Amino acid sequence: MADDVYTLPDLPYDYSALEPHISAQIMELHHDKHHATYVKGANTALEKLADARSKDDYALVGKLTKDLSFNHAGHVLHSLFWQNLGPDSGGEPSGELATQLATDFGDFASFKKQMIETATSIQGSGWAVAAWDSMSQRVLTFQVHDHQGEHGQGTLPLLVIDAWEHAFYLQYKNVKADYFDAVWNVVNWDDVAGKLKEAQATKWSP
Ligand code: MN
Repeated sequence: MADDVYTLPDLPYDYSALEPHISAQIMELHHDKHHATYVKGANTALEKLADARSKDDYALVGKLTKDLSFNHAGHVLHSLFWQNLGPDSGGEPSGELATQLATDFGDFASFKKQMIETATSIQGSGWAVAAWDSMSQRVLTFQVHDHQGEHGQGTLPLLVIDAWEHAFYLQYKNVKADYFDAVWNVVNWDDVAGKLKEAQATKWSP
C-alpha cells in the first residue's frame, strides 16, 4: 500500500492543557478518535479513487468524492482548531489582527458576538469559521455544515470553532452556549494573527 497522503498531527499541548474550559477527556477522544477517523477517511477515499482509475471503473466516483470532501475538510479544520487553541491564551487580539477585525466587524465585541451566534445557531453538526476572503480583502464569517458545507470558495480559514456535539457534550451536556462562551478563554490569538498574515500574503485570487 502506498504511503498515506494525510497524517494525524500531534496535539501541540497536553490533553489537560485547556482545562477547565475543555476537559482532557474531550481533547483525548476528539484528537485521537474523531480527528484520526477523518485522516483515515481522507486517505481511504484517495486510495479508492486510485483503485477506480486503475480498473477504469468510475462508477463510485460520486460517492468517493463526497467522502473525500467530508474527511479532508474534517482533517483541515481539526488541524487548524488545535493550533487556534492553547493554554495561557484568551483575552483579545492585538496588533494588525485587532485592526482588521475592527475594520470588518466594527469592533472585537461585535465580531465575537457574531461568531458565537454563528456557532449557536447551527442546525445539526458544523463549525463557526472566520476566514480571509482574498476577493474582498476582508475577514468573513461562515456557518460551515458538517465540515465542508456552505463555506465560501477561495477563502482561507483563520479561526474555527468546532460546534459538533463531540466537541463539548461530555463536559457541557446540552448547554452548548456555555461551551461557546468558555472556548474564548483558550483562543490563541498569536496563532490567529499568524494565520491572517499568511493568508494576506497568499498571491492566489479568483
Ligand atoms: Mn470535531
